[in-house]
Amino acid sequence: MIIVMCPEATKTERNMVIDKLTKLGLKVHLSEGASRTIIGVIGDKQLISELPIEAMDGVEKMVSVTADYKLVNRQFKQEDTVVNVGGVLIGGSNLVVMAGPCAVESREQILLSAEIVKKAGAHFLRGGAYKPRTSPYAFQGLEERGLEMLAEAREKTGLKIVTEVVDVETVPVVSAYADMLQIGSRNMQNFQLLKTVGKTNKPVLLKRGLSATINEWLNAAEYIMSEGNYNVVLCERGIRTYEEYTRNTLDLSAVAAVKNISHLPIIVDPSHGTGRWKLVGPMARAGIATGADGLMIEVHPNPAEALSDGKQSLTPENFMITMEEVKKIAQVMGKRLP
Ligand code: PEP
Ligand code: MN
Repeated sequence: MIIVMCPEATKTERNMVIDKLTKLGLKVHLSEGASRTIIGVIGDKQLISELPIEAMDGVEKMVSVTADYKLVNRQFKQEDTVVNVGGVLIGGSNLVVMAGPCAVESREQILLSAEIVKKAGAHFLRGGAYKPRTSPYAFQGLEERGLEMLAEAREKTGLKIVTEVVDVETVPVVSAYADMLQIGSRNMQNFQLLKTVGKTNKPVLLKRGLSATINEWLNAAEYIMSEGNYNVVLCERGIRTYEEYTRNTLDLSAVAAVKNISHLPIIVDPSHGTGRWKLVGPMARAGIATGADGLMIEVHPNPAEALSDGKQSLTPENFMITMEEVKKIAQVMGKRLP
């Protein structure tokens, strides 16, 4: 249930509504927009609907939110959310690019990658130190040593670091190094992990599960936000379909849909979304044209030698070209690269 306050409602009137709700043991989430305040109420639906809230001073109306997700819902917050990651703003009129190799492979490889993506105009360095691999025999990542290398790359370039956290146990160590925690596709419904990152104050990049519906994805975001961490950015990275030419089917309609349903920023990952480097540029451009707030792109100094996802990684030259193209589409969409 959401309570919409009148534009002219005073703070005292707002607080009286909040007091009434909290005294009944209901959970309250406040959203102060530019034009009005919205109070989200979570708890016994029957009890809430019977309260004479609409009779209270300053209240415009009470609306029932039928979707399972509340805090994520645009009904709850009309303005686009802008997530601040150490001074880099994701959402609104900004277009943010996260780029780098699939995995941190060595100190030299990640430092060189950082230099390359920085030069091309990226804002974040990506790279997995803990890798969720399909095969247990494939390269599993450098773990904490990899995190140290990412931190060194940040120091040298000023890029922000986004890296994946694969389980509850490693949330503290990954949080100690990363600017943003990535929840990978395979963990999108690891509810314990979602709740744990929800208890931190680190911004979270929540990738769509490989077979998740938009509804399930938004509920996953709700898990994080319901623990108090409102700094969530969604990432469309393709879903599994019958198509085999591409690794996944990049669902750009989900970007448009999410923009309607939710106020959260959303970025597009055309690398995992296609699995083929030749398709990355075109789908990056398409993602921006759909209204995405940014991109996540795999770039490797030498894709042919990559320990993971070389086939979908751009060379430094191709990343440079893609960035130039992306800037043009961004301009058309009224977005700018900060
Ligand atoms: C990744 O970004 O490295 C990754 C493993 O992506 P996803 O979780 O989308 O498969
Ligand atoms: Mn990858």
